[in-house]
Amino acid sequence: MMPTEKRLAPIAEKVLAGQRLNFEDGLALYASQDLPALGALANHVRERLHGDRTYYNINLHINPTNACFASCRFCAFGRKAFDEKAYILTPEEIVARARRSLPEGASEIHLVGGIDPRLKIEFYCGYIRALKQAFPHVHIKTLTPVEVVFIAKMSKLTVRETIERLREAGMDSMPGGGAEIFDDEVREQICEHKCDAAQWFETHREMHRLGMRTNCTMLIGHVEQPRHRVDHLMRLRAHQDEWAVRDETGNLLAGFQCFIPLSFHPKNTAMSHLPGPTGHDELRNFAVCRLMLDNIPHIKAYWIMLGVKQAQVAQWFGANDIDGTVVNEEIYHDAGASTPTGMTVEEIRRLVRECGRTPVQRDSLYREIAPVS
Ligand code: SF4
Repeated sequence: MMPTEKRLAPIAEKVLAGQRLNFEDGLALYASQDLPALGALANHVRERLHGDRTYYNINLHINPTNACFASCRFCAFGRKAFDEKAYILTPEEIVARARRSLPEGASEIHLVGGIDPRLKIEFYCGYIRALKQAFPHVHIKTLTPVEVVFIAKMSKLTVRETIERLREAGMDSMPGGGAEIFDDEVREQICEHKCDAAQWFETHREMHRLGMRTNCTMLIGHVEQPRHRVDHLMRLRAHQDEWAVRDETGNLLAGFQCFIPLSFHPKNTAMSHLPGPTGHDELRNFAVCRLMLDNIPHIKAYWIMLGVKQAQVAQWFGANDIDGTVVNEEIYHDAGASTPTGMTVEEIRRLVRECGRTPVQRDSLYREIAPVS
């Protein structure tokens, strides 16, 4: 497809030639209103990498605690310790919840939560170990850098020591949350209590140096400007250039394996006066992210946060993953998400087929674990 806007023509040429885009290209993409052309370019890259496959997994989300001393202005999930709705699950309760809710064939439990000074490394190693003992074949994806940096501080450990202890307990990989927008001035406005960009990258770097894989995210639709988004994407790309480890055929062994664009949901947050991103902006953002992040293999349309319909459309704007069954989502539902809190495998496969893609079940490391149909 030929773009209707002049400024997109040289960028389209670069994309078709497999050349890397620069900061100015990123700004031009975000300034574009030619959504069909952006989608076509992003889809070109997406199909070059993944054909018509859309990946999903069978997973369960558990939030071990919603108690949080931070006050991120976009968050409707964290509760102060004295709030009557604040909770901390014991390892036994976490295992009991997993026994109750883990879907048949599940390959992953995803656990993230608030940061609370009462919780030290022993708490986290405790639930990870208990889950590994109960479900030895299930991948434990847990703790964002925000949590890891806080645990390290509270436990008087380095980030490296903290990760080594968590890994020894059974942590398999790290989700991508807490990145928000890396720019200091934006962080100051929306999440000044949590770790800064340097600490966020340090945590991922230590994971990658230990040969592990992680995900990464960007939260859009609050106070950020397009230049903050482009800067964010370029920092992720630079980190991946430096720290990703690949085998001789180019397959990723350690590094960022998946990027997840996240949309700000205003309801019940301290920024509820803001409208959040439009559907147009969400799709443009998917396309720009796919085009800028040329060294991160997968882009996920997290259906819980986007809504099922937008997650389907995103499969034509650069996304090649739709997350999984999820089962127990709380974080976006506290912020007013109207999606279900989980889906069955049949529902996921149907909605992927409906949007013209082939559903492929994967594990947490993107190994295919079900035949393509
Ligand atoms: S986003 Fe995380 S760190 Fe921030 S207030 Fe919410 S739970 Fe706490």
